[in-house]
Amino acid sequence: MALVIQKFGGSSIADAERLKKASRRAVEEFNAGNQVVVVVSAMGDRTDELVELARRLNPEPAPREMDMLLSVGEQTSIALMAIAIHSMGFKAVSLTGSQAGIRTDGVASKARINEIDATRVFRELEKGQIVIVAGFQGVDSDDNITTLGRGGSDTTAVALAAALKAERCDIFTDVDGIYSADPRLVPEARRIERIDYDEMLELASLGAQVMQSRAAEIAKRFSVPFRVRPGGNNSEGTLVTNTEQLEQVDVRGAALEMNEAKVTIRDVPDIPGAASKIFSAIAKEHVSVDVIVQNISAKGITDLSFTLLQDDLPAARRASEAVIEELGCGELEVEDSIAKVSIVGVGMKNHTGVAESMFSALAENGVNIKMISTSEIKISVVIDADQGQIALRAVHEAFELGSA
Ligand code: ADP
Ligand code: ASP
Ligand code: MG
Repeated sequence: MALVIQKFGGSSIADAERLKKASRRAVEEFNAGNQVVVVVSAMGDRTDELVELARRLNPEPAPREMDMLLSVGEQTSIALMAIAIHSMGFKAVSLTGSQAGIRTDGVASKARINEIDATRVFRELEKGQIVIVAGFQGVDSDDNITTLGRGGSDTTAVALAAALKAERCDIFTDVDGIYSADPRLVPEARRIERIDYDEMLELASLGAQVMQSRAAEIAKRFSVPFRVRPGGNNSEGTLVTNTEQLEQVDVRGAALEMNEAKVTIRDVPDIPGAASKIFSAIAKEHVSVDVIVQNISAKGITDLSFTLLQDDLPAARRASEAVIEELGCGELEVEDSIAKVSIVGVGMKNHTGVAESMFSALAENGVNIKMISTSEIKISVVIDADQGQIALRAVHEAFELGSA
């Protein structure tokens, strides 16, 4: 008997009809003789609606209360799915993150899973139940409900697959799999049959909303192959797995991130420890900084620019104010209409000329580059937000990602 994890994203359970369809998929797996654990997100845009509601009451709601609020979305889904499965004549039980033993650290709104105590889940499976677990949530050591960051149900599914040693993990979503770029932005984008964990991790971290990057990270660490599949048909989707199973290409995909902002701190003293003080203060607020550029210093001072998620701006500003004053830096300037376009591929590390082709494609389309950041398997450029889509399409075409 195999243990199978199925994860359904918000769009795959957006209304009663779709929720029923997802429930039928779970029942089919069960009828095929498998043990089934289902992970569900909040229905449709429920999480966005709850965020909006809170912001109308307070522009900076406390992260702990946001966790309490948002976890309700997933809790609605688990109960409704159990109710739907019962109506089909099968046994099912819904479990919150806490009941499913998902223990996290205490960083509200971006908690990380520390461990999963699967005792309860196994007990329910042994009773012949289809087990339905609320995605995106866990519990910290003080019994606070925590959430794992937007898109966190992917991480719940993959982490459960690792903890339960599942045979299969299917992530059902509203696209046919992982594409060479977001098909909503690039109509020519092509479905990728197999993708490497590292490529998936990079694409997800660089703005491909289809998967939470943490899910790819856990999948790699515990060698959990998983499939991203369409909720609406029986296509096999995309297999996310290790490199040995893949044909190597220079560029596997491209991604666009629109939710970043660029911060510049003027007149930073060019002394040892200045950058360290600024970034330690920001890190203490659990803010991740992305691309960093420090200019050549002139007259003992320099400008320091970095990008981060727009949502993290208030915390980063708060964190850096005291250090800026202590170091005697100049103004802190924010540009919030920026975008980041990236290309990703494990084959890139063995080839030259990839960056040159990317920059030429951008130049030919009149896109001005503000910052550049590279690693072995990715190249990212920071540009004006209004050129984001043009830039994404330009690089997608330059590397012929749309052709078979
Ligand atoms: P779910 O609700 O199932 O978690 P999401 O909305 O989080 O689904 O993710 C699916 C969406 O991700 C797709 O509708 C698609 O527009 C977007 N997306 C972004 N980049 C990609 C990509 N490279 N491949 C597939 N989909 C992508
Ligand atoms: N409901 C959460 C979100 O919208 C988690 C998820 O869907 O994965 O981000
Ligand atoms: Mg998602």
